[in-house]
Amino acid sequence: MANVIDIVSLYPKDMNIYGDSGNVLTIKRRLELYGYEPRVHAYNQGDDWPERVDMILGGGGQDTGQKKIISDFYARADLLRGLAADGVPMLMICGLYQLFGEYFETIDGTRLDGIGVFGAYTIGRDVRMIGNLVEHSEDFGQIVGYENHSGQTFLREGTQSLGRVEQEGRGNNGEDHTEGARVDNVIGTYMHGSLLPKNPAISDFLIRAAAERRYGGFAPQSTAEQQTELARLDQFAQEARRVAIT
Ligand code: GLN
Repeated sequence: MANVIDIVSLYPKDMNIYGDSGNVLTIKRRLELYGYEPRVHAYNQGDDWPERVDMILGGGGQDTGQKKIISDFYARADLLRGLAADGVPMLMICGLYQLFGEYFETIDGTRLDGIGVFGAYTIGRDVRMIGNLVEHSEDFGQIVGYENHSGQTFLREGTQSLGRVEQEGRGNNGEDHTEGARVDNVIGTYMHGSLLPKNPAISDFLIRAAAERRYGGFAPQSTAEQQTELARLDQFAQEARRVAIT
């Protein structure tokens, strides 16, 4: 029997824009191709928290979406912080990346406190940062995606960014060339795209971390057919990345 990996898709109803659900589909498919059995649990406000969690994927959302989830999010803050500290791999895009920081002050002056997994804060501005985003990351090489946000995020001293913006894009704030944040196995980023179909290295990092934490190691058991399919997905990723790089 295949080893199960339990994935939480965090607030997919309100926090899932610009195709971020593609991240969940990608993780699910790659896990299957590696011979694991993925179980995806959609978690929305008021739902029961799943018994077992090996990975958490969260997407972006409008300011209004962020306000809708915020009280449930606070109720889950200790749990999420605990799982992050315990090494659960997580990927938080844009709106949820902002809320994994210390606070987000929206353009209308509302302050939404975050859960402080990242030493970072975000200020809403009246200029949107939109377009392809290409960055270099020490851990993952070149990362390619698409950004669309008006919040400017600033990392506190000592907070590691996910990458450094190269020729394309604005990144965390359009000023200091940083993009995203990383703490242990938790990644926050402005990269939509969807991110994971275009960046297999990040998918595989999340999968490996989940398998190692639950089973003590990552032991893919792909058939020849599955290996061919994985190679095809990597080929698609290359093509999608090329389109984004001008
Ligand atoms: N509302 C946030 C902003 O505009 C997040 C947007 C998003 O998730 N794309 O900064």
